[in-house]
Amino acid sequence: MRNLLTQSLKQLGDTSSIIHLQTIHGGCINQAYYVQTEKREYFIKANEKVSPDFFKKEVTGLRILQQSRTVNVPEIFGEFYFEQEQAAMLLMEWIQGDKSEKTEVWLGHQLALLHQTTEKAFGLDEDNYLGSLPQINGWDTNWVSFYRDKRLKVQLELGIQRKRITGQRLKKLEKLMANLSQWLPKNPSPSLIHGDLWSGNWLVGPHGKPYLIDPAVYYAHHEIELAFTELYGGFSERLYQAYQNIQPLPLDYQDRKPLYQLYYLLVHLNLFGEGYGQSVDQILHRYV
Ligand code: ADP
Repeated sequence: MRNLLTQSLKQLGDTSSIIHLQTIHGGCINQAYYVQTEKREYFIKANEKVSPDFFKKEVTGLRILQQSRTVNVPEIFGEFYFEQEQAAMLLMEWIQGDKSEKTEVWLGHQLALLHQTTEKAFGLDEDNYLGSLPQINGWDTNWVSFYRDKRLKVQLELGIQRKRITGQRLKKLEKLMANLSQWLPKNPSPSLIHGDLWSGNWLVGPHGKPYLIDPAVYYAHHEIELAFTELYGGFSERLYQAYQNIQPLPLDYQDRKPLYQLYYLLVHLNLFGEGYGQSVDQILHRYV
């Protein structure tokens, strides 16, 4: 790892000595490090089991967020893949700071502006990853078919393969997918979303400034992002108020919220196992 790190730093033009290297805990997929050279500080992610495009997709997502000029993301220094070792490495700005009273208001405000970045269709030019699972994109002008085919169906097929979606669960999910247009709006505006916004995927930088990390971006009905933030919690009321001051949520958002949380629960069921099964079944039971 140290050897690959030195090679990466060299490619970035930093040949100064490494003064400090520390493992950072908290992520669920990659190894993470704080590195300080004589020249500067870095946050580094490394992975020895990913496909060569894994960090490329993360960089693309962060760049798309950055180009929207609505939210803050860490500066990307470089991304490298070492063929022989089959290892990937991503080097970016080290973000550190303390929350201020304004931090979450700031985040709510910026998130609303991000969601006001729109496109003509749902999806993205390229596929990416949600955690370590591939997330299929492409474009579709119809939100219902996008959510059904590119989100729920992909997880349904994976769940069948991994034997996590069987029996009644499978039957109900198929029925829900066939009747999706009953609950989802036909033509919402396609909004740019972070795509994986749980409380571990944002950081506080200097002066309480919020930063988004680890995205799974695409253009979607923006309510899906809010629904996911509410699934595992960790975001304060202040954030939602700031969000709604710019982009109010309609009352019937509450009726759709579990349907949007379902995608994330299916992903987690497929990734981490039956611990998520009961929550999936509860949602299926509510609609079918
Ligand atoms: P993973 O891709 O494995 O989920 P994360 O991107 O979530 O990894 O990062 C792992 C840990 O490192 C988290 O605790 C996160 O808070 C922290 N972290 C991520 N990016 C930075 C950064 N640019 N600066 C400082 N800490 C970071």
